[in-house]
Amino acid sequence: TPSLVWYRDDLRVADNPALTAAIAHGGPVVALYVLDEESDEGRALGGAAKWWLHKSLESLTADLADLQVPLVLRRGPAEAVVTGLVEELSVDAVFWNRRYGAERHIDERIKSALREADIEATSFPGFLLNEPWDIQTGAGTPYSVYTPFWRATLDRISHHPIPEPLSVPERAAARAEAVDGDDLSDWDLLPTSPDWAGEIAERWTPGEDAAHERLAEFADTELRDYLHGRNHLDVDETSRLSPRLRWGELSPRQVWHAVSPATHRTEAARSFRSELGWRDFAWHSLYVRPDLHENNWRADFDAFPWPPLDEDALEAWKRGRTGVALVDAGMNELWRTGTMHNRVRMVVASFLTKNLLIDWRIGEKWFWDTLVDADAASNPFNWQWVAGSGADAAPYFRVFNPELQRSKFDGNGGYVNRWAPDADAPDAPEPIVDLKESRRRALDAYQSIRG
Ligand code: FAD
Repeated sequence: TPSLVWYRDDLRVADNPALTAAIAHGGPVVALYVLDEESDEGRALGGAAKWWLHKSLESLTADLADLQVPLVLRRGPAEAVVTGLVEELSVDAVFWNRRYGAERHIDERIKSALREADIEATSFPGFLLNEPWDIQTGAGTPYSVYTPFWRATLDRISHHPIPEPLSVPERAAARAEAVDGDDLSDWDLLPTSPDWAGEIAERWTPGEDAAHERLAEFADTELRDYLHGRNHLDVDETSRLSPRLRWGELSPRQVWHAVSPATHRTEAARSFRSELGWRDFAWHSLYVRPDLHENNWRADFDAFPWPPLDEDALEAWKRGRTGVALVDAGMNELWRTGTMHNRVRMVVASFLTKNLLIDWRIGEKWFWDTLVDADAASNPFNWQWVAGSGADAAPYFRVFNPELQRSKFDGNGGYVNRWAPDADAPDAPEPIVDLKESRRRALDAYQSIRG
């Protein structure tokens, strides 16, 4: 009888506790990926994410084949698909790495159903540095402020070091018999007409091998300049690992150990590790509030007087036609390459929610559809951070000034030149809002909910 490893956001063979356990279990191993667009829990993937998923599944299929593990693709509600396949193959054990958003309730139901049927069902940590329930305040509640959260994380790590990553397991003991599944191409994850993914494909090579190459390269070179690079838009010296972590081509443990406190003692390395900490913090927040993309973290924000949606302004923002150079450059970079520099993400989000007074949820949705690293926790968490509705958010009165940001962080103009080359032409369009006046309007709106 085969065992089953159920793949989700962990598209890798190295440091994959579920895969390692399935192979150690003995006998043939079948891997499964379910495209679930039907369950109530969770969120359907956006366009750029689907592109990445397609490419990464191709790469995973080949890597698993080397281990004598076929990857079966099936589409439908996860609960029915997983339990159906277990029955079909008379599987005796199922392994997976945990999820922490609303989907975890699907996993809980499947686990009880399997155990009731006397089938082994085991889940593992593999997506975060620490499990959400392991980092809590003295009172046993989750942290809502980052600094104490990170202090508690480092303290825990000093007592419970981040485990060494697992290496790629040996081949499965036996080859599983062929199992029916979908063809990846039937899932229509890639765009056809128009094919908007050309520049995304130039910029990115999904898959575990490329992820490791990038991690090694970053740790060896750009990390040295990270403090400078992360704030200078044109040099782009950040790690670019976010989609790798989002899709689990790399585990945070692998990244941690590549830039670990034991080997990398610089300020730059500390700062990079603390960014990984923000990822955990966002996920711990989603664990507490699985509705993070729908509801304000802070209830007082529910009364925020968003004006009726200005569709034209929204369209101008999405298309990079606001007439504000740095905003347009960022939105073009996003549309064309599926990513955007972190600082520019903050600037365009502030511009949408404050200068245009458009609800953060609308911007979050656009990012969800266009980012290759679109992440169920980090995306809404950061939008709420910028909008001011989040737990440990930027103070509302901190409205980013895109012109000041441009002169401070794109001093020699490289970034704007690259992504919005016409921004400074004499016939460039005027900004669609007056920055000063719209800032005033936002602050007034905020005053109205402060009571
Ligand atoms: P590096 O600077 O090299 O950081 C290393 C890793 O730390 C990143 O790969 C990422 O996993 C994590 N990280 C860094 N900054 C943050 C942060 N602020 N919050 C959470 N994790 C962080 N990041 C996503 O992964 N997915 C998203 O959907 C996403 N949406 C965002 C939306 C807005 C409005 C903003 C302001 C930020 C968003 N971020 C998101 C966070 C951040 O912009 C990206 O993680 C970062 O730009 C990725 O580039 P990098 O891998 O080179 O980061």
